[in-house]
Amino acid sequence: MKKIDLRSDTVTLPSSRMRAALATAEVGDDVYGEDPTVNKLESIAAEKMDKEAALFVSSGTQSNLIAVLTHCQRGDEYIAGQTAHNYKYEAGGAAVLGGVQPQPIDYEPDGTLNLDKVASYIKRDDFHFAKTRLLCLENTQGGKALPLKYIEEADVFAKKHGLATHLDGARIFNAAIKLKIDARKIAQHFDSVSICLSKGLAAPVGSLLCGKTEFIKRARRWRKMLGGGMRQAGIIAAAGIIALTEMVERLEEDHLNAQRLAQGFSMIRGFHLDMRLVQTNMVFVALDQNIKNYFVPYMAEKGILIGSGHYPFRLVTHYGISAADIDFVIETAEKFIKADMSHS
Ligand SMILES: *Cc1c(COP(=O)(O)O)cnc(C)c1O
Repeated sequence: MKKIDLRSDTVTLPSSRMRAALATAEVGDDVYGEDPTVNKLESIAAEKMDKEAALFVSSGTQSNLIAVLTHCQRGDEYIAGQTAHNYKYEAGGAAVLGGVQPQPIDYEPDGTLNLDKVASYIKRDDFHFAKTRLLCLENTQGGKALPLKYIEEADVFAKKHGLATHLDGARIFNAAIKLKIDARKIAQHFDSVSICLSKGLAAPVGSLLCGKTEFIKRARRWRKMLGGGMRQAGIIAAAGIIALTEMVERLEEDHLNAQRLAQGFSMIRGFHLDMRLVQTNMVFVALDQNIKNYFVPYMAEKGILIGSGHYPFRLVTHYGISAADIDFVIETAEKFIKADMSHS
């Protein structure tokens, strides 16, 4: 039975071009700065984010952590979304390892942080308070592309309030494709940007933290301290180069498949979707109460994997998922409804 894994775009497998590239990659000791493939990947990433420099790191979590540690000191505070990856899903790293306190704020339905609300959480200079130092945004946020106008406003806002800015751009290219703009147009509004190679871009491992040369120099020390200084890392960076140079455009296909899936689901009785939320490669679906607990196990029996960690259920399209797969998912969901109704 063929598996159709829609739990996340992190399950993507490397392309055959990636496997070939990593088999023949020219490598050296990256802690000495001597791995030509890592150096090339870092310069490509910096160029694509319109930043002076970039740092190849083991994961998006490490990238976000290094960013907070580099922007903030012990006793500082960073503002992030209540469900932001770098608040909720990174094991509290900034607080545990950096003595940096998060100030979470609820996201608006469009994935933005309301700037008036943010302003009300910025702490004035008073020894009772942590020092608010950094504003973190995420793009895409739950599959939604932040409006460019909002990002411009957030940039002006942060400068006015003396805050540095970090973008968790794990899926920044999905956002750029959705908005039909160059990713630089998004990245230019942030002091630092983290991008993931191992999501829809299909590389096996790795993220890049991008920013000014001086910032990346300090970030490199934190990476070393966190145990992230890897030696012949060009073996994995080689796949990252293909991710950035050959896999970006194809994200459009994932977006079309997400649309196809959402359209199909929206026709099924008992399935509820907000089509406004289907912007990139994620589909969120809620089911009638009486059937919702049976859906994920039923689909799994037919080889279709859906994460049960989110509700509404989240289905993510990615490299390796075809339009035919999506049609099979829709047909299977239709059968699920029929099977269930015949039992009741
Ligand atoms: C996946 C992801 C990350 C990084 O995850 P890792 O598994 O640590 O690479 C960071 N932010 C967002 C929004 C993500 O989706």
